[in-house]
Amino acid sequence: MIFKFDNTYANELNGFYTAHQSAGAPAPKLIKVNNKLATQLGIDLNSLREEEQTAIFSGNHIPEGSKPLAQVYAGHQFGGFSQQLGDGRALLLGEVVDKNGLRFDIQLKGSGRTPYSRGGDGKSALGPVLREYIISEAMYALGIPSTRALAAVSTGETVMRSEPLPGGVFTRVAASHIRIGTFQYFAARQEIEHIKKLADYAINRHYSKIRETTKDDLSDSGSMYLSFLAEICDAQASLVAQWMCIGFIHGVMNTDNMTISGETIDYGPCSFMDHYAADTVYSSIDQQGRYAYHNQPSIAQWNLARLAEALLPLFGENTDQSIEKATEILDAFPQHYTQYWLAGMRKKLGLQTKQEDDLSLINDLMASLNNQQVDYTQLFRHLAKILQGEESLANELFNDATTFNLWVKRWQERLRQDELSLSESIKLMNHTNPIYIPRNHKVEEALEAAVTYDDYSKFEILIDTLSQPYHLQDGKEEYSQPAPKEFQATFKTFCGT
Ligand code: AMP
Ligand code: MG
Repeated sequence: MIFKFDNTYANELNGFYTAHQSAGAPAPKLIKVNNKLATQLGIDLNSLREEEQTAIFSGNHIPEGSKPLAQVYAGHQFGGFSQQLGDGRALLLGEVVDKNGLRFDIQLKGSGRTPYSRGGDGKSALGPVLREYIISEAMYALGIPSTRALAAVSTGETVMRSEPLPGGVFTRVAASHIRIGTFQYFAARQEIEHIKKLADYAINRHYSKIRETTKDDLSDSGSMYLSFLAEICDAQASLVAQWMCIGFIHGVMNTDNMTISGETIDYGPCSFMDHYAADTVYSSIDQQGRYAYHNQPSIAQWNLARLAEALLPLFGENTDQSIEKATEILDAFPQHYTQYWLAGMRKKLGLQTKQEDDLSLINDLMASLNNQQVDYTQLFRHLAKILQGEESLANELFNDATTFNLWVKRWQERLRQDELSLSESIKLMNHTNPIYIPRNHKVEEALEAAVTYDDYSKFEILIDTLSQPYHLQDGKEEYSQPAPKEFQATFKTFCGT
């Protein structure tokens, strides 16, 4: 068997999906397979010829042991509730368990229409497939929880978007595809038994440790589900803090795009910030700036409140008390988020101890960037250089570095009060502040060459470079540089539909 499928979702959650087959592709070509990930997941691709791999990752051949299915979910999209969404262009092939006993979903995206396709064609254009491959793997290499890329194929088919485009299929690996919206679907239908069943399943799969801490308390199952909510809040607080530290903008933080596991999912119109500006929005569909960079923590909390509403019947008989307890958990979110964010930012500044004033130190650095068009990623990478006596690299990023230079003096004073030696601080910073992120212009350049000219060399180099984001690589200077100003001024991302 190529995949040692062990399909708990299909077997245990009848009523949470529709069994379905992929449409297939007329002339598929294998573009990329993540062999390292396949090995890690115990998937035996080496025994397959390329045509066989292509057949699997295009949906033309459903591998043995798979029970392909489309999951149902609902969701708040840009604040408005849709009662039924679901996998409209995706199929869960099944689950595999890796060498460490961790369970992962294997999902095809772009594999054809399903009962949840609504008006859509069930397909993906090749560009967004390649984009998700690049950015999800970059996130993984940066150390941020993320779904991953197992394979990309082109289908040989044309899909109609605003123009005809070549089609593709993406194979995604995720800790699971359970979303806030999955709970919302059953809550909207007041199917409390289903909410409970899904929560029990998700607890077993992602938060089994809370069963141990609440097991003496079986008479009070409400407390277990409250712990479940608290764990998800914690995972999301940590995740969004990591996004903020690295300068990542998700772009469509709808409740159907927020996982219960705490992994980043759905790389549609996402992007990394170039120059620092708190209100940055790249997504062409986000005209109100709902999902702007600086709104992400509060949107996460808003989404978690929607999850709490969906889980409410599980918290106990007394609704007022349940609301009070859930509200307490939600109200703690900003504080937890801030702790994670502060911890991340301290590392970016080479600090190991905590001091009261650190928040103002960080905020003042951000304030010194206002209206300066300073590249966020380069600035943090160059801070360590200042400690090595090379101040010019950071200074050159500013139009006027006066305020920044005063800040540097304060920061160096703060570093002296810390327990780390200078060289340890530099090491910490260089493991925290990447040199290489998926620069918007480099991603676009790679996609253009691949989709328009069938030239995958740039795509390959980009993936290779981004797999080691913290290490200086010879001859890769251009991948560390921000886009030309003209590019930055007009760049928009488009939803990967
Ligand atoms: P997304 O914007 O990728 O999070 O998708 C939102 C919803 O629209 C999900 O239910 C998708 O399955 C559905 N969807 C997106 N694109 C398509 C498509 N081309 N065909 C069918 N459904 C789609
Ligand atoms: Mg989605």
